[in-house]
Amino acid sequence: MSWQDKLRQVEPYVAGEQPKISNMIKLNTNENPYGPSNQVKEVLKEIDIEKLKLYPNSDGEELRHALADYHGLKDNQVFLGNGSDEVLALTFLTFFNGKEPVLFPNISYSFYPVYCDLYQMSYKEVLLDQDFKINVEDFKQPNSGIIFPNPNAPTGLLVSLDFIEEVLKSNPDSIVVVDEAYIDFGGQTCVPLIDKYDNLVVIQTFSKSRSFAGARLGVALGNKEAISNLYDVKNSFNSYPVDYITQQIGLASVLDSQDMKEKCQKVIKTREYTKTKLKELGFVVPDSYANFVFVKHPEIDGEKLFLALRQEGIIVRHWNKPLIDQYLRITIGTDQQMERLFEFLEKCITQQQ
Ligand code: PMP
Repeated sequence: MSWQDKLRQVEPYVAGEQPKISNMIKLNTNENPYGPSNQVKEVLKEIDIEKLKLYPNSDGEELRHALADYHGLKDNQVFLGNGSDEVLALTFLTFFNGKEPVLFPNISYSFYPVYCDLYQMSYKEVLLDQDFKINVEDFKQPNSGIIFPNPNAPTGLLVSLDFIEEVLKSNPDSIVVVDEAYIDFGGQTCVPLIDKYDNLVVIQTFSKSRSFAGARLGVALGNKEAISNLYDVKNSFNSYPVDYITQQIGLASVLDSQDMKEKCQKVIKTREYTKTKLKELGFVVPDSYANFVFVKHPEIDGEKLFLALRQEGIIVRHWNKPLIDQYLRITIGTDQQMERLFEFLEKCITQQQ
């Protein structure tokens, strides 16, 4: 089969809708409703337009240094990319070539099979149990590529650091990638394990807890050799880490991490309230340690509910996929937005009865 024919078979990732109408309640792509820190806003106001004539700092030095400081690592243990989707794409290319099959959970982030198809890597999806838990034994497969989000997406469930250590120990010759896109919403990061395990690479994003999905900044953290491997691959495409403006605002965000932590606390509080409210309305609500909940109602069809919400101007995420087609993933918005959601759901449920 020609490469063009193979490419035709690749099913591209379909991102959540970004609606054109601004008065919709957008709870579908796990953005943070509270916006970036005021320090970020100040830096943006002061940006020196003349600097845009020049290429950005090719090492992203200041931002890498600030991130290294924040995580207790060295500068050469930090990799920067244009959103963690780009970091993930480069990670697959750098570490999973020749490590097949690539293992990841099913259910998980739907970009992973897309990367595998694009790079022509074989993969194996590891089924979760009926409570969406991941079985550690399934990830003990030396010589495979291993990746999982923690907390998992879209389930919101966490694995423990013991689980991660077990996987790292049983796959000493493979890089194990932990995608921590949602870790700041209540999970325990595995970054401290990096100095103990050379085969751990952790990926984080500024899109969720730091609330600038629009600027595109993602990070990989690992031992210096792995990070240098990633830069070798990245620089072969584009030798500038991220643009000048994103380096400046990323730095401001890291230096004001307290602001991020406070906003995450607000999201967590609303998430816990949301769980209680949805349970009262009869939903099945698995635990969540992310800025979303993944829920289903035993009496209302998932797609019907998704469409009814959309009609009402409330956008949540729904997949027409086996195992999860009855579920909705609902991003935690402001308290006011969530109240609108609860009111409408209550109406739907009353009509159903
Ligand atoms: N990993 C996971 C698990 C995600 O849900 C997302 C967001 N869709 C990403 C990575 C990518 O985020 P970004 O590219 O905005 O950094």
